[in-house]
Amino acid sequence: MQFIDLKAQQQKIRSLIEEKIKVVLDHGKYIMGPEVDLLESRLASYVGVNHAISCASGTDALLLALMAQEVQPGDCILTTPFTFMATAETIALLGAIPVFVDIDPITFNLDVDQVGKAIAALQFADSAPYPLPRGVVPGKQRLGGIIAVDLFGIPADYRQINAIAAAHGLFVIEDAAQSCGGERAGKRACGLAQIGCTSFFPAKPLGGYGDGGMCFTDDAVLAERMRSLRVHGQGQDKYENVRIGLNGRLDTLQAAILLAKLEIFPEEVQRRQEVAGSYAELLDGPSSPVVVPRVPSDCLSAWAQYSVLAKDGEHRAQVQDRLRQAHVPTAIYYPKPLHLQEAFAFLGYKEGDFPVSEDCARRIFSLPMHPYLTRAEQEQIATLIAG
Ligand SMILES: *Cc1c(COP(=O)(O)O)cnc(C)c1O
Repeated sequence: MQFIDLKAQQQKIRSLIEEKIKVVLDHGKYIMGPEVDLLESRLASYVGVNHAISCASGTDALLLALMAQEVQPGDCILTTPFTFMATAETIALLGAIPVFVDIDPITFNLDVDQVGKAIAALQFADSAPYPLPRGVVPGKQRLGGIIAVDLFGIPADYRQINAIAAAHGLFVIEDAAQSCGGERAGKRACGLAQIGCTSFFPAKPLGGYGDGGMCFTDDAVLAERMRSLRVHGQGQDKYENVRIGLNGRLDTLQAAILLAKLEIFPEEVQRRQEVAGSYAELLDGPSSPVVVPRVPSDCLSAWAQYSVLAKDGEHRAQVQDRLRQAHVPTAIYYPKPLHLQEAFAFLGYKEGDFPVSEDCARRIFSLPMHPYLTRAEQEQIATLIAG
């Protein structure tokens, strides 16, 4: 059994992918070829925003978004510790300070009430009401913005997050690396905040055959800045540089592959709903040994992962072992929250600062999830979980 079955997907669209790769080989425009423009306009209209700026990875998408927001060294950026490294890493790369806020135990996304508490603590630089990173000095730090993450495919609560941000003059970046294809309150993920950032890493819901990413925005000024930053801070002319940027372009070949994958993407998102529905039917119930994911009523999850909670760490190890012996792969996202990672030791956080993230890290594990999972495979998984 596959954790994510990219082979089954390829079988479906192999000839289309080969055709599109051949077109690129024929025209030879490997950098910023016509497929890049086409993918940007297709995805902008899919998401429902005015501008889409492709780039080299989801990590670069976050970096471009933060740079476009003119984040400065020492700025405080609020985010979740229960996410992939890149979310907080890009903040630190710019010399800004990640300020972690614990998650909601149901959606695993930022807990909106705690965002308010963290902002209040930051304003007085007082870590008594809420844990703050080391070295925050009252009056010296600018509170820049919030990066919310749509973990496992469920969009965060942007109605509330955007309102809090507006009240404090903060920007909001949506880390939609896992939620492309999802929806909240009738709007597509990637378009739920000022800037949305996604990833085309092969295992993401819309994955290519290599690295890639995209930024989405309705704001023409931010879009222009991100286009410039993507190519060494380019100005009007190729050899005019108006700001410090990076080489962060998406390859034409990757865009061509993604255009082929986009053809079946809406069907795949639909299939993911059915697979998640079957899991819930098979695994949910008063005597279930695991807690299954709950999607808020106004949301559609992109189901990047189907993550369940075991009773405790020991129970998780037992269930994972049972599945492994039956050749059913599982994974743990994420075994260690970012505030406890060595890379962020300089922030001075400690165990106990974010108890919900820490509890989830001990109990969570993800089951095989992809559009080609069969009901029979899911029944086998459910039987193994029950023990
Ligand atoms: C995958 C991922 C990223 C980074 O994307 P890359 O394309 O691998 O650089 C960022 N944030 C989250 C939440 C992710 O899952």
